[in-house]
Amino acid sequence: MKEASAAGIQRILQNQRTYFATQETKLLPFRMEQLKKLKAGIKKRDHEVIDALALDLGKSELESYSTEIGILYEEINFTIKHLKGWAKPKKVKTALTHVGSKGSIIPEPYGTVLIIAPWNYPFQLALSPLVGAIAAGNTAIIKPSELTPNVSALLSTLLQELYPPSYVAVIGGGVQTSQALLEERFDYIFFTGSAAVGKVVMEAASRHLTPVTLELGGKSPVIVHEDANIPLAAKRIVFGKFMNAGQTCIAPDYLLVHSKIKTSLIEAMKEVIQAFYGPEPIQSPAYSKIVNQRHYNRLSGYLKEGTVIYGGERNDSKQKIAPTLIDRVKLDSSVMTEEIFGPIFPVVEYTSLEEAIELIHSRPKPLALYLFTQNKNTADEVTSRISFGGGCINDTLMHIATPYLPFGGVGESGMGNYHGKASFDTFSHRKSVLKQTNRFDFSFRYPSANNGLQLVKKLLK
Ligand code: NAD
Repeated sequence: MKEASAAGIQRILQNQRTYFATQETKLLPFRMEQLKKLKAGIKKRDHEVIDALALDLGKSELESYSTEIGILYEEINFTIKHLKGWAKPKKVKTALTHVGSKGSIIPEPYGTVLIIAPWNYPFQLALSPLVGAIAAGNTAIIKPSELTPNVSALLSTLLQELYPPSYVAVIGGGVQTSQALLEERFDYIFFTGSAAVGKVVMEAASRHLTPVTLELGGKSPVIVHEDANIPLAAKRIVFGKFMNAGQTCIAPDYLLVHSKIKTSLIEAMKEVIQAFYGPEPIQSPAYSKIVNQRHYNRLSGYLKEGTVIYGGERNDSKQKIAPTLIDRVKLDSSVMTEEIFGPIFPVVEYTSLEEAIELIHSRPKPLALYLFTQNKNTADEVTSRISFGGGCINDTLMHIATPYLPFGGVGESGMGNYHGKASFDTFSHRKSVLKQTNRFDFSFRYPSANNGLQLVKKLLK
């Protein structure tokens, strides 16, 4: 892995600053054009994207198209459709103390932003923040993941073809490159990755007082209550858990199931796994591999922390682990305390909803939470009592795929959010400007005013 030099990074950064200062990136027609270019560029190479994802992660074409390519088209289309309205300065009301003046909020780009991406959705998670950065009028440097070399190389080729590096640049490399980038002063840092590295990023950003968005991970629970529609719950949970072989930040991490329906839910999930991936999922082209040997070994270790009740098959040379359900896990074991990020699904039963809520409360705030119930009060209780980044009632993952819902974590699962307008807002500073009238001038605020204090007390009480 070739690491980027500090001098090389500084040169690109300086060029981006110079280019940003020309003001061109702020022009609305320019931004629109760059977004259209991005979409056309992806379209032209979408087969290469699918091939690269197959090489790096063994992703099927359906998964690659829906979760990495199609979702980007949606994001770009939505942004192009609404950008004019988002970018317009917003007039605000005038306070009584400010009669005669006009206030407005003007969204302005931060300047040069850094986007650090992870490996699990390596194409989409590098480009989706870029859509927001471009829409808001920034220049951007993207640091893709070193663990998905084919996708990272393709990102570099694609973006070089579309944009000059003084506008959008890809800087490849590993941890060392990422650290060298973090030494520099950016105007905004958008990081997607683990909580541990999120802390490193925030610490580095604090040295320059650079604002950050941290899109992190964690343990996202799925609760299946006694009144759930079991066949539908099984289908939607298996879909969310085993997509990309569980290597999804918002995948259900562990299952909390009401004891009354545990057996029937497990039986239903087994049937769905077979229907989705066949009797031998590790042979199925629809089923992804584990990204590398280190993660394969880490996940294999979890299999010993409970009783495997379904799956458990592995293929060392293909780095594949079958969709696996494990029971009798200890709550303080690593599989129940670390983010699993793979196709192993611990099953924990509860007898009262209170018990499930307490268990989640005793842990860091999750990135996602899923609840299956047919009772509105149960849904209201869970959503109002538990703090989590985002989630679904009676589904998994789907809240991430609509541009109308801001996506992000809370507490240890992250800070800030994006998608749709939230992306534009994330990459924009809201500049407040008061335009004062020259037609008259209230004198009561000046030290020379006779009745100043009296009037101020009347106005501000
Ligand atoms: P990671 O934190 O190991 O790496 C992410 C990026 O940070 C990579 O580009 C890597 O090169 C860089 N990096 C790694 N170590 C670094 C260091 N010490 N200093 C500076 N930079 C460093 O994460 P990952 O393994 O690529 O991705 C998996 C994690 O990302 C999981 O925790 C998952 O939940 C999370 N994730 C979150 C989201 C989300 O949207 N919230 C999406 C995908 C993944």
